[in-house]
Amino acid sequence: MKIARYLAHGQISYGLVDGDSVKELSASPFEDYTVTDHTHKLSEVKLLAPCIPPKILAIGLNYSSHLHDRPGPTEPMVFFKTTISVIGPDDTIIRPKDTTRLDAECELVVIIKDKCRNVSKEDAMSHVLGYTCGNDVSARDWQREDRNWWRAKSSDTFSPAGPYIVDDIDPSNVRVMTRINGNEVQNESTSYLIFDIPTLISYCSKFMTLEPGDMIYTGTPGEPGEMKDGDVCEVEIEGIGILRNPIKVE
Ligand code: MG
Repeated sequence: MKIARYLAHGQISYGLVDGDSVKELSASPFEDYTVTDHTHKLSEVKLLAPCIPPKILAIGLNYSSHLHDRPGPTEPMVFFKTTISVIGPDDTIIRPKDTTRLDAECELVVIIKDKCRNVSKEDAMSHVLGYTCGNDVSARDWQREDRNWWRAKSSDTFSPAGPYIVDDIDPSNVRVMTRINGNEVQNESTSYLIFDIPTLISYCSKFMTLEPGDMIYTGTPGEPGEMKDGDVCEVEIEGIGILRNPIKVE
């Protein structure tokens, strides 16, 4: 299953992607829906972020290749990103003019299916609708200097997501990649996650009710690359697709 959220003829819909076309759903994928006969060519719709998340949880330091000389975490290191920072495929990432370093972070993003709390690891995957590509855009100077990561991780446009929600990948072993202007800067398998997806869902839901559409950005590997004015950033995950965004200075 591959689900898109898109704009066509002034109307926002969810649809099931089938080859180069998309079939409109009667309701959101978080409700009871049917697949209608209303079809568009994918090339004729504007793809949007694949859902509107009630909240975004993100995990820091979740690949050993990203730790460098820092000690590994003993529990998942969770922070928030704001929902207003979400943008979709081909939308522009705005680089604030007074940050000195803006990085791309490719991440596998979990989309929660239903309301849940205190979920066991064994049960966690039954609460997942699917997965999408995410870019945890990070202003490194602000991340280092501010007491809180509010603007470092959540300035407007800092949470690109898309292009689709896919449920038929093995999230424990897919390659997550970033290319900037076509040059690969990150490429690693999710099999190297320090805390796997069932652990993250179980841990987060111990403290906080998870809701339909919630996104969990699961962390980034290796050495993120910088995004400058005029660059094009691509986050690709095997089996999901490519999330492509141009960069412009504010
Ligand atoms: Mg990150």
